[in-house]
Amino acid sequence: MNVGIVGGGQLARMLALAGHPLDLRFTFLDPAPDACAAPLGTHLVGAYDDPGMLRQLAAASDVVTYEFENVPEAAIAYLSGHTAVYPGARALAVARDRWHEKSLFRELGLPTAGFRAVDDLAGLKQAVSELGLPAVLKTRTLGYDGKGQAVLREPDDVERAWQQLGGVPLILEGFVRFAREVSIIAVRGRDGELRFYPLAENEHRDGILRSSRCRPADGVQVEAERYARAVTEALDYVGVLALELFQVGDALLVNEMAPRIHNSGHWTIEGAAVSQFEQHLRAILGLPLGDTRALGHAAMINFIGAVPPAAQVLAVPGARLHAYGKRPSPGRKLGHATVVAADAGGMDAALSCLMALV
Ligand code: AMP
Repeated sequence: MNVGIVGGGQLARMLALAGHPLDLRFTFLDPAPDACAAPLGTHLVGAYDDPGMLRQLAAASDVVTYEFENVPEAAIAYLSGHTAVYPGARALAVARDRWHEKSLFRELGLPTAGFRAVDDLAGLKQAVSELGLPAVLKTRTLGYDGKGQAVLREPDDVERAWQQLGGVPLILEGFVRFAREVSIIAVRGRDGELRFYPLAENEHRDGILRSSRCRPADGVQVEAERYARAVTEALDYVGVLALELFQVGDALLVNEMAPRIHNSGHWTIEGAAVSQFEQHLRAILGLPLGDTRALGHAAMINFIGAVPPAAQVLAVPGARLHAYGKRPSPGRKLGHATVVAADAGGMDAALSCLMALV
């Protein structure tokens, strides 16, 4: 079978690494000549909305998926008309725009931070008067890893944030004083079967995910699964989906969804019976879903801007290195390491050793 992927970054690369044992062949569409997935399949070098490239991608693929949510709408419409595309166009349309995303959560009765759409400075001032400060101003589309966001703490910040982000559709959210951030990864098959991984507890710095710890049997697992079930069923979703959540007291607020494999699920490569990457491929190809159980106490640390020497990473007990082969640059995700330990103490100790390397 042939799988087409819009995007040729590390998520596409890890999908291909998971798919090769299943005898799957991959075609990637990515404008970057040095896209890091390229060595694992056929690389179409071109823009995501290039009609000729989209034609080639559809012709080469039994099924098309994507590794990021900012795929142009027209590209997905074209691909959907010529081959199977999972997750479907509706999931992508919702996930692409924070306003649509939060509106869906509200329709489904899932709690979120207060939010308002903002189109001009007067609208921003009105939204601030309704939601209060602190608040977070975000671009509705194209934001990732904390980009396209500004925290407003004092009235003076309002104009400054507008200067920084204004001119495109925005959303203002109430600032959530969360106890922790968690995410749940769900996988839904073409037949509607739904499975969940144990949730991950995530630590961000400067808006970028630094580390995730798998938390089997966590107290909010059942609630997180309820939210993910509501979202995937409402969208008739096929594939892996991540929901990012804030925990406040015992309650969970939904922050956002990712209609794809997700950085907070990288621990599943060695830490779960079947990884999120293989699981996504199984789901979109209509194959039986795999076991989502954790195999031990697992965690993941991202390497951002630089990857420590392999000899140092691999000297940490239980650590496995995943280097993406990307050109180093500040703030860029270049690799990660996972650890799987027999107990929580072993996991924390190994993670501390890895953190000391970055
Ligand atoms: P996002 O791009 O929405 O995932 O935001 C990136 C990170 O910024 C999140 O993981 C949080 O750490 C922080 N953040 C985003 N939205 C809020 C909010 N409404 N209140 C507090 N922190 C937030």
